[in-house]
Amino acid sequence: MHDEILFSRPLRTPNELSNLAAVLESGHSHGDGAFTARATARLQQITGSARALLTTSCTHALELAMLLLDLGPGDEVILPSFTFPSAATAVVSRGATPVFVDIDISSGNIDPAAVGEAITARTRAVIVMHYGGVPADLEGVFQFTAMRGIAVIEDNAHGLGGIDAQGRRLGTVGAFGVQSFHDTKNVQCGEGGAILLNDDALFTRAEIIREKGTDRGRFLRGDVDKYTWQDVGSSYVPSELNAAVLDSQLASFYQIQVERFRIWNTYADALRDWAGDLGIRSMADKTWLLHSAHLFYLLMPDRAGQSDLISHLGAHGIRATFHYVPLHSSPAGRRFGRTSGRQDRSHSFSERLVRLPLWPGLTDAQVSRVLEAVLSYRPRR
Ligand SMILES: *Cc1c(COP(=O)(O)O)cnc(C)c1O
Repeated sequence: MHDEILFSRPLRTPNELSNLAAVLESGHSHGDGAFTARATARLQQITGSARALLTTSCTHALELAMLLLDLGPGDEVILPSFTFPSAATAVVSRGATPVFVDIDISSGNIDPAAVGEAITARTRAVIVMHYGGVPADLEGVFQFTAMRGIAVIEDNAHGLGGIDAQGRRLGTVGAFGVQSFHDTKNVQCGEGGAILLNDDALFTRAEIIREKGTDRGRFLRGDVDKYTWQDVGSSYVPSELNAAVLDSQLASFYQIQVERFRIWNTYADALRDWAGDLGIRSMADKTWLLHSAHLFYLLMPDRAGQSDLISHLGAHGIRATFHYVPLHSSPAGRRFGRTSGRQDRSHSFSERLVRLPLWPGLTDAQVSRVLEAVLSYRPRR
């Protein structure tokens, strides 16, 4: 029996240990030191964003965005039911109401028409998630939001480096973009995140909210001679220890992406005919200008196909997995949220999706083993 092939495994990049040693020896391991500045500059270069702030997580970046919008009870924020819970918890943390809408099943991303139907006088923002780093239809969403002054937030936890059909870098198109550096993401530092502020006017306030409501940022730059409590806030500044690892990871970003695309493209090519013959949809059936190779999925014809393929691969020592359970159907979603319209596509996508192992460092031999096991799968009926 071969070793098990893991679903995901964080990559080690060359400078992590030396960067960490430098932080520990410097005696400065709290946030906003030299590695935070370097990692932020790299993130700005990769995304093209002029205004980025590292945070302790993507969830905290979403919370920061909610504080910036002065969201409160009675306000509504529209988001896809098929996404990670953080978008909803950030809304609920302000006492506002998450409103769940259905997805476009060809991408797994929010359906702009469903956004249009969910808008009320209370709608303050829409959180769009680029599933698997495949660009969501932002122009479609803007059709409903732009005239009404509704903010669009891009949850770009999957999509670092992605580019949409208009040639824009993901995370920089809405009012805010948020990133995750959790160790399951393309670039990681254990736990970490960032917010990209695409509206310059909000930068100073974002900096204050991130630093416990104080203007310590201005003080550190020498713009003021003491710092004081200015506004609402929290502690969203990551330690230099995290930034040290992140700096090394971001320096290797393009090599990481080349590795991920090598595996993604191998899966796409090798599974095309097999999937077509069995009525299985592959993530590669549609083309996008540039996704991020964050994940590779197959959409089985039905729910039984999902559990059957996952157990078939498990029997071959390969960890494949499903993904999000639609939020509107979850215990907290029912308690805190409102559901707009039918969620059939979210359910269907969720119960048919199978993700294959995809991480840099997966060897050619391991990729071949995954493919052999997938290609040997036949539906029961
Ligand atoms: C991982 C993830 C998050 C949460 O990121 P953290 O950094 O762990 O808070 C949010 N949204 C999406 C889409 C994610 O994949």
